Amino acid sequence: MRIVNVIEKTVPVHAPFRNSLVDLSAMTTTLVAVVTDRLRDGKPLIGYAFSSFGRYGCGGPLRERFIPRLLAAPPDTLLDAATGILSPEKTLACLMHNEKKGGHAERSMALGTLELALWDVVGKILDQPLYRVLADRYNDGRASEKVPCYVGGGFYAGPADSDAMLQDEVRRYLDAGYVRVKIKAAGLPLAHDLRRIEAVIALLKSGSHLALDLSCAFGSEQALAFAKEVAPYQLWWIEEPCDPLDFETYGLLARSYPGLLAGGENLFCAKEVDNFLRYGGFAGRIVVQPDPPLSYGVGEFARILEVTGNHGVPRSQVLPHGGNLMSLHVAAAFELGSAESYPDLFAEFGGFGSQVSVEDGMVNLPQAPGIGFETQPALFKLMSQLTRGWP
Ligand code: MG
Repeated sequence: MRIVNVIEKTVPVHAPFRNSLVDLSAMTTTLVAVVTDRLRDGKPLIGYAFSSFGRYGCGGPLRERFIPRLLAAPPDTLLDAATGILSPEKTLACLMHNEKKGGHAERSMALGTLELALWDVVGKILDQPLYRVLADRYNDGRASEKVPCYVGGGFYAGPADSDAMLQDEVRRYLDAGYVRVKIKAAGLPLAHDLRRIEAVIALLKSGSHLALDLSCAFGSEQALAFAKEVAPYQLWWIEEPCDPLDFETYGLLARSYPGLLAGGENLFCAKEVDNFLRYGGFAGRIVVQPDPPLSYGVGEFARILEVTGNHGVPRSQVLPHGGNLMSLHVAAAFELGSAESYPDLFAEFGGFGSQVSVEDGMVNLPQAPGIGFETQPALFKLMSQLTRGWP
């Protein structure tokens, strides 16, 4: 088999809200479609993916070098020798040819998104949902059929924001079947942030059902002061209190804050996660949150899991970032501690589609072949526009 075309398009994600530092209203993501010469029901078999949330699109490196490099590669060099079908691992190795070490974020999103679209192709060829394919490839065939799942929400919504609106939002999540949530923090004066936190805890079973995402807001002194203030709530975790590479502040927090810290959505490969864990000094009290399409895809995620294991971080504390089907399949395939969900946010890109339901904080896995974007009609409409009229 061979890849006959790869199409990409960067589109808005319609996120009219903000975290502590970033206004997300102009945020974009990149859609990718990998068209193959395999036919399914008389039409070319196509794999789809998008570049997750929270960082802008990655069309530049895809257009300028990775798609041309992929289309120029001899087709047989991209195939699994045993099965004769496309190998995402071999394709990534080909795409990394002539790439210098380091500078990962410049290419990890383009390659990760492309890699996920390749896995969508493989799942469709094998007629299996992606988590089953990945479990066979990376986890001795074991996978979770249901995964704990929390909602990442509670964004700051500008002048109209209020504690009552935040409570309404969280009530919707609880009514939908979720039991744990994460809200944004560190974007308002401390007294107001504490009021928001208490307003949400009042709706949950306990503080341990709430995580806070500080979105890299603080320097060392502010982070330590904030952590001291919120410690009595006994929260699920505090996420990204400071710059992702400020290992010194992470280390100071790890020594003074008694609960879990979290980070990883802004680390883009196994080596960056290795340094984070080596120099953060967490002694196991860390939740690691890599985002597969943002960080070279599933193959690199498997390498990240080797690193987290070497540092004594259990898989129950590795929680892929990104409330989308790609991260949900990864959470199930590697038997991780939880997935994340954005049920009402990010327009077409939010939610898990028609085959996934929530009950008592757990979600099932879609059974459509591949990633299953076809079960998200609004999103799939966007994706299929890329390949309209093909060939
Ligand atoms: Mg975050």
